[in-house]
Amino acid sequence: MNGIVGMQHLIGETDLTAEQRGYLDAAQSSAHSLLALLNGILDLSKIEAGRLELEHADFAIRPLLDDILRPLEVVAQRKGLTLTGVIRDDVPHAVNGDALRLRQVLLNLIANALKFTHVGGVTVTVERTSDWDGVVELRFSVADTGIGISEEQRDSVFEAFRQADNSITRRYGGTGLGLAISARLVELMEGEIRIESQPGEGATFIFTARFAHAHLAQPAAESVAPAAAFSGAFRPQRILVAEDNPVNQTVISRTLEKAGHQVALAHDGRQALEVWASSRFDVIFMDMQMPEMDGLEATREIRRMEEGTGARVCIMAMTANAMSGDRERCLEAGMDGYFAKPIRAQEVIDWLARRETVPGPTPA
Ligand code: ADP
Repeated sequence: MNGIVGMQHLIGETDLTAEQRGYLDAAQSSAHSLLALLNGILDLSKIEAGRLELEHADFAIRPLLDDILRPLEVVAQRKGLTLTGVIRDDVPHAVNGDALRLRQVLLNLIANALKFTHVGGVTVTVERTSDWDGVVELRFSVADTGIGISEEQRDSVFEAFRQADNSITRRYGGTGLGLAISARLVELMEGEIRIESQPGEGATFIFTARFAHAHLAQPAAESVAPAAAFSGAFRPQRILVAEDNPVNQTVISRTLEKAGHQVALAHDGRQALEVWASSRFDVIFMDMQMPEMDGLEATREIRRMEEGTGARVCIMAMTANAMSGDRERCLEAGMDGYFAKPIRAQEVIDWLARRETVPGPTPA
C-alpha cells in the first residue's frame, strides 16, 4: 500500500492530461477503499488475537468531540443535514483512557449516521451514568433521522462483514466491518453497545465506556489532532533512508527530494550504519524490517556508538504499524518517533518543516 499510495502521489505531481488525471483520481479513490478495508481487517484480527491494548492517558472530552465533528460538518452540510454535539453538565472535563479508540468508535457511528440519513440530522450526546470507586462511566449516543434498522437486523450488524441487507453494499458501499470493530472496542472499554430504531424514522446507537479519573490538576491536553503545518523558512535537511524495498525507496526518496531535501539510501540496517558513520545526517528514516540487520538493532547500534560523543541523530521509524507494541519497541530502541505506513507525504514534509523550530527530538 505504501508503494501504491506513494507512487500515485508522485504521478499526481507530474504533468497529466485531464483524461489521465481522471484515471488517477479513480485509482487513488480505489487505493483509499482498499486501505480502509485492510485497516479494518487488521484491527479486527489484532483484537481477535488479543493484541490490541488500550492506552491510558488523560484527555479532555469537549476538544475530542469537536475534533471529530469538525471535518464531518462538511459532509453534513453537503447533504443538507444538521450535526449537533451535546455534552451534559455532569460530564467531567477530562478522563483517563484511550482517546484514539474512543474517537474511532464515535467517528464510525457518526459517519454511519450521516451516510444512512437523507433528511434531518444527527445528534451526538455525552452523559455521565455513574462515578464511583475511581471509575467514571460515560454514555454516548448517536441519534439520526435516517433509514433505521429493523428489529431482526439489529444484532447481525455487529457481526464482521455483515450489513443490514444485500442492497446496502450496492447503494451505500462499505465493508460491514465498522460496527464489528466498534462493538469489540466498546467491550475493551468495559461498556455495552445497543441500537434503538424505528425503521424509516431513524436509528440511535448507544454505548457506554468506563474511564479512570484524570490525574491532571490542570486541564488536559486540548487536542489529539496532529499539529497544524508549520510555514517558516525552508532549510534543506540531510536525510538517510534505510529501507530494503525498492518501490518504497523510490517513493520516500523522491518525495523528500521533491521537497528540496538531500537523500542518501541504505538497503539494510548494516549499510545504514556504514553510511551514517561516514557522513552527517539530520534525520534517519528507518524501516523496521530489513534483512541483515533490522531497524531496531541498527538504532541500538547507532545509539551505542554515539555514547560519549554528545551527538544524537534524530531517528524516525517507518513501519506497517501492524501490531500493538511497535511504537513502544521503537522508542525503547532509541528512536525518536514513528511514521505509520503507508507514509503520507505531506505529513512527513510538514514534520520536517516543524523540526526546525522545535529543539530536540519530537516524537510523532
Ligand atoms: P459499513 O458501514 O461499512 O457497511 P458497519 O459495520 O459500520 O459497516 O455497518 C454495518 C451495517 O449496519 C451497515 O451496512 C448498515 O446496514 C447498518 N447501519 C449502520 N449504521 C446505521 C445507521 N445509522 N442507520 C441505518 N443502518 C445502519
